[in-house]
Amino acid sequence: MIFKAILNGSSPSVAAQAEELNGFIRKHLSSGDNIGSTIVFYAKKEAKNALLGLVPTESVKLVRVARYQPENILEALQTVENAEKTHLYLFPSGFAGSEIAVRWACRMKGSSLVQVKQIECSGAQLIARKTVYANHVLGTFKLTQKPYCISLAKGSADRQAITIRDKRIVTEHDLTGLQKDRFIKHSNWIPTETTQDLEAATFLIVGGRGMHSKENTQRLKKIADALGAAFGVSRPVAMSAWTPLHRMIGVSGAMTKPEVCIAAGVSGAAAFYAGIEKSKTIVAINTDIRAPIIKAADVAIIDDYKAVMAELAKIVLC
Ligand SMILES: Cc1cc2nc3c(=O)[nH]c(=O)nc-3n(C[C@H](O)[C@H](O)[C@H](O)COP(=O)(O)OP(=O)(O)OC[C@H]3O[C@@H](n4cnc5c(N)ncnc54)[C@H](O)[C@@H]3O)c2cc1C
Repeated sequence: MIFKAILNGSSPSVAAQAEELNGFIRKHLSSGDNIGSTIVFYAKKEAKNALLGLVPTESVKLVRVARYQPENILEALQTVENAEKTHLYLFPSGFAGSEIAVRWACRMKGSSLVQVKQIECSGAQLIARKTVYANHVLGTFKLTQKPYCISLAKGSADRQAITIRDKRIVTEHDLTGLQKDRFIKHSNWIPTETTQDLEAATFLIVGGRGMHSKENTQRLKKIADALGAAFGVSRPVAMSAWTPLHRMIGVSGAMTKPEVCIAAGVSGAAAFYAGIEKSKTIVAINTDIRAPIIKAADVAIIDDYKAVMAELAKIVLC
């Protein structure tokens, strides 16, 4: 199978995107029959060399565009690509990757699937899997029309750092004149706070709806700060605005892998649990012995989280 990975070199999260794509390629496309290359879109000339170090394949096409907007990217892809010769396009996770995957498939008369977790290439079709029904079921889809255009699901593969290659086969295109988004008068990137600290944390404390109020949430965050832990929350907590949204853990937020995760007042619903399941040790504190997190945890404490956390802080901080 001939595949192409697409990287948005203008994004502040390009390194994370590259590691995600690299992990997915190593897991699903590293066999001898698959030949891959990467297309990197970028705007700033000075970013070029740093971007080359992030490319997960030996062969790379560097495409300079005025800005990373779907209209420009689709047009640029059409200019530099012969889609008949490519079987599979891999777009990164996130909204932009999914949007362009679907629109590119539509233009190329191929087929698309977004937020894909796994793939199997089998002859004339691509078998792709993604979670459906609120993440309770892993659905299997058969894509039969080439090119297959998929975007990855967040956390679909362990991120893998790019090994620096001595040799790269690089082709370059400057398509800054090809601006198809002239209807946009002005655009500006406003960086939002990210979940990166949660994803990199080795010690994590997560509070759930069992905290019952914004004040209690702030108290637990203070304890987490004092203990040197990153602080995350479940979705209902973030949606109640007890914390900013980017503190959310789970399929809609950060996918973490700490050494120790303390989950306090969290029931352990599947969509949440996916965000902490790679923890080495999970300690659950819950008043309900039947909460799903109790079964999944390495250590379960059946008690009011407030009493347990206050005692823990006393022991560690005195
Ligand atoms: C498409 C989709 C995506 C979703 N994505 C996410 C996601 O990314 N992240 C996420 O978190 N959720 C997500 N959800 C929601 C998810 O299904 C659950 O509803 C949510 O995780 C529940 O949060 P919770 O455990 O904090 O609350 P609850 O399920 O209400 O659990 C609260 C727990 O606190 C315990 N408790 C109460 N008082 C105390 C106390 N004093 N001390 C100790 N324990 C106490 C209770 O026994 C209970 O087990 C998603 C849902 C959908 C449909």
